[in-house]
Amino acid sequence: GELGAEQAGLVIAHYGQQLDIEALEGERKGSVCRCFVRANIDSLVTGDRVIWRPGSGETGVIVARSERQNLLQRPDKFGQIKPVAANIDHIILVIAPEPEPHDNLIDRYLVASETTGIPAVILLNKQDLVTDDNREAIDRLLARYESLGYPVVRTSARTTDGEPASQVTELVQGQTSVFVGQSGVGKSSIIQTLLPDESIRVGAVSESTGKGTHTTTTARLFHLDCGGDLIDSPGIREFGLWHMSADEIEFGFREIRNLMGHCRFRNCRHQNDPGCAINDAADKGEITPERMHSFHRILQDMAEQQSRGLTVE
Ligand code: GDP
Ligand code: ZN
Repeated sequence: GELGAEQAGLVIAHYGQQLDIEALEGERKGSVCRCFVRANIDSLVTGDRVIWRPGSGETGVIVARSERQNLLQRPDKFGQIKPVAANIDHIILVIAPEPEPHDNLIDRYLVASETTGIPAVILLNKQDLVTDDNREAIDRLLARYESLGYPVVRTSARTTDGEPASQVTELVQGQTSVFVGQSGVGKSSIIQTLLPDESIRVGAVSESTGKGTHTTTTARLFHLDCGGDLIDSPGIREFGLWHMSADEIEFGFREIRNLMGHCRFRNCRHQNDPGCAINDAADKGEITPERMHSFHRILQDMAEQQSRGLTVE
């Protein structure tokens, strides 16, 4: 049939050869259309801005992709890097007193944030579980990341009677967010306060049950009642927890990145090498022992993983 005029759209979900586009302008503004993609456009992902042409009913054709601000990628089970979501304003890294945070895991998420160029915010959830026993350790941990320049916010998903906590609302308003973090820290609980209408989510998933699609694992974009967008999928929540190269790890520690190229030997592995700028900085207290330890630990884990031939955990 005839196609309407070109207009702007936003990819909100992805089903194999088809995508759901939200019309950002024109007569159908705000409505969702199932679209096919012109063959000459390479892979589109949730969060992509596109140019599309409406067709009959709730269909359409995507004719172009707008430039991306950034791209979150992950390897598939064969180790091939696949794009997952685009145009994200920040990664909200959720931690909690319970399960106890691991520096190592936090630092891996932060490396992923640095290498994709998507800023990270650290969100301490379950503030109600901070006690005299763990307060000092938590404050010290948060202070360490704050002094590296990562914003830190404290909240509790539990004490808000289903309403989103004001700290979370402020964080996500007007932004496109993704939540990442260890299992059990409260990501689902926080997201549920932001998306109280469960039917939106359930509907979104059941829509896709036909035609051999695997929607539950692909990213989906949600508009939040408080303003702002959320892109979520099980894969995204684990973003960053796969193989990283030594170069990426060096780049991903901000305070180490600043010293790159200052070691005496070009292939310095920053162990106990003479003239190592990073060791010197650690000796002078410019890099904390925790971050140094974590840096070496991640390098070592990645080297071991590679020697076993694994690319995805
Ligand atoms: P996820 O694995 O990160 O998605 O974590 P969940 O949202 O499933 O939460 C794990 C557990 O922590 C659940 O039992 C939640 O009820 C609980 N939880 C979430 N937020 C809070 C909070 O702010 N305080 C307390 N005490 N428990 C919480
Ligand atoms: Zn060195």
